[in-house]
Amino acid sequence: MEKQQYIDRAEQVFYKVYNRFPVVFDYGEGVCLYDTDGKEYLDFGAGIAVMGLGYGCRELNDAMKRQIDKLCHTSNLFYHVPAVEAGEKLLKASEMEKVFFTNSGTEAVEGLLKIAKRYAHNKGMGTDYEIIAMKHSFHGRTLGALSVTGNDHYQEPFEPLIPGIRFADFNDLESVKAVWSEKTCAVILETIQGEGGIYPATEEFLTGVRAFCDEKDGLLLLDEIQCGMGRSGHMFAWQAYGVKPDGMSVAKALGNGVPIGAFLVQGKAATVLVPGDHGTTYGGNPFVCAAASKVLDIFEKRNLVEHVQKVGDYLWKRLEELADRHDCIKAHRGKGLIQGLEFTGPVAPVVNHALLEERLVLISAGSQIIRFVPPLVIEEKDVDEMVRRLEAAVRAVFG
Ligand SMILES: *Cc1c(COP(=O)(O)O)cnc(C)c1O
Repeated sequence: MEKQQYIDRAEQVFYKVYNRFPVVFDYGEGVCLYDTDGKEYLDFGAGIAVMGLGYGCRELNDAMKRQIDKLCHTSNLFYHVPAVEAGEKLLKASEMEKVFFTNSGTEAVEGLLKIAKRYAHNKGMGTDYEIIAMKHSFHGRTLGALSVTGNDHYQEPFEPLIPGIRFADFNDLESVKAVWSEKTCAVILETIQGEGGIYPATEEFLTGVRAFCDEKDGLLLLDEIQCGMGRSGHMFAWQAYGVKPDGMSVAKALGNGVPIGAFLVQGKAATVLVPGDHGTTYGGNPFVCAAASKVLDIFEKRNLVEHVQKVGDYLWKRLEELADRHDCIKAHRGKGLIQGLEFTGPVAPVVNHALLEERLVLISAGSQIIRFVPPLVIEEKDVDEMVRRLEAAVRAVFG
């Protein structure tokens, strides 16, 4: 069937909440995707920072196939081995004490928000607790996560959202202190803001917020859904800062395409919820946990975090050079394999040209920023090829 026919059928059936690119992907191999016409695309988006191990990872696929034939689901009324193994590995990697598996990132954030509210409730703080979140943050699309997402455009049509959310400026400790009140029970932030434009937290800010939370007995909750799982050049981005959150969220690359997320807690946050407070029917089922468990094995076996540091440094160098050659690029930010280039104008035409003419998959973050979140297994030669294709697209659009 012709590509356009698939697209027409899709537009007939899907609820129109996405403007999709006119490409129909068929399969993937390594760091490349192939469309239904057999054309190859170099992928620097990784399905929005999900496909850390790239496509067609044989070892992972075999583990998933074995689990499919064995047992996919039990509900959380029973124990099963894959969740225990995935949980132990994730706690070890994250230095946390307890884990709850979810089906998505936004649900992991919901869990953290319930912990924050319940923490205040347990302390007898009444019912009108406040949570501090950051401007330009992104935490997901469900109503709780949307409430702490500092983006008017996403929030406005769905108000009223959950009450008691105060927004502070990211990387501005004084603004956090300014909105803190006696009702504040928690601060939630992304260690590296992703959708908001690839802004890493400064060390001064993160250590300052940690100290202030300790002083005021509030919880520090870090959203590591995008920047976690090795992407920053550390297993979790906060591990570079010498501070530890009370709770954190993980998803995206945890399942390498299989829908699984988690919230993880330690210390006083680890005993806030009690049986009956939270649940999920298939969150953390045997199938998705077998995938996450194998993903974590592969991270360790292949020293992927170290690899990200090396190839991330190389990507940094090549993007710096590119920025030097083009006046339309005005800023370069990020760490490891989560980097962004900010342009002087809208990047949608560059992203479009790169995809359709250069067969390079890129994603934006906001209207003027191109975000680089490739599979973590990319090599220097993939970076070189990406820069070559990107530069052609930049020239075509900005001259
Ligand atoms: C993607 C993302 C989410 C939401 O995850 P979903 O799986 O889409 O629900 C939350 N927080 C951050 C930082 C994200 O990047």
